[in-house]
Amino acid sequence: MAQISLSHIAKAYPNGPRVIRDVSLTVNDREFVVFVGPSGCGKSTLLRMIAGLEDITDGDLLLDGQRINDLPPKDRDIAMVFQNYALYPHMTVFDNMAFGLKLRNFSKADIRQRVEKAATILDIQNLLDRKPKDMSGGQRQRVAIGRAIVRDPKVFLFDEPLSNLDAKLRGQTRIELQKLHRELQATIIYVTHDQVEAMTLGNRICVLRGGDVMQFDTPMTLYNQP
Ligand code: ADP
Ligand code: ADP
Repeated sequence: MAQISLSHIAKAYPNGPRVIRDVSLTVNDREFVVFVGPSGCGKSTLLRMIAGLEDITDGDLLLDGQRINDLPPKDRDIAMVFQNYALYPHMTVFDNMAFGLKLRNFSKADIRQRVEKAATILDIQNLLDRKPKDMSGGQRQRVAIGRAIVRDPKVFLFDEPLSNLDAKLRGQTRIELQKLHRELQATIIYVTHDQVEAMTLGNRICVLRGGDVMQFDTPMTLYNQP
């Protein structure tokens, strides 16, 4: 089970206005939900609050019914994949993927098994000794996803993961993400400003504007409106 609920969530950065005003929504277990909306509408802020990387100013964040507002990121069963990959350029792929597991005191054998399994899923077994600084954008993206899946979290957060890839690679990776969603049986929240991406990936799409939810519905309902 992995259900995420936001109840009257608001966010103001220090000394600033509320950039998230009053958001309430539920992402169901194993659902793939896409947040769309223009730049600055609050997509990343919402994602970072769910990941625990930003304080929540007001409201409750629930994971399977439990309030997790004050839980540090490493104790949340949630992994985030960043737009810029956020890899350590001078560490090997293996060490990049193992980093979070070492932090959480997984055994060496377990770490190796998890990294190798994730590498197989993402077809990057032959890159484990390479360094991100010597790799393509698409390869780095896989490593960034690999680093998230080694933990086997219940929830994945993706912040515009394809925006640095060229059009062809974006299309390929989109298909792979759908496959990954089925394989991992995870709950996914995915941020993009690309409508095609939203329509092809999302079970439901949440349209944000100015820190509020405008619409939250299936792609069929959203885009076939008269
Ligand atoms: P999006 O991801 O939809 O582009 P963001 O969540 O990044 O939107 O930003 C929402 C609003 O919050 C914007 O007005 C942005 O300028 C502001 N904002 C984002 N990060 C910060 C920050 N660290 N400090 C102050 N304001 C911020
Ligand atoms: P078990 O049978 O004990 O669950 P698995 O062989 O299924 O062990 O998985 C070993 C480890 O590989 C898991 O603990 C998990 O971290 C990781 N793992 C399992 N399933 C996946 C998956 N679909 N994608 C990525 N990593 C996975």
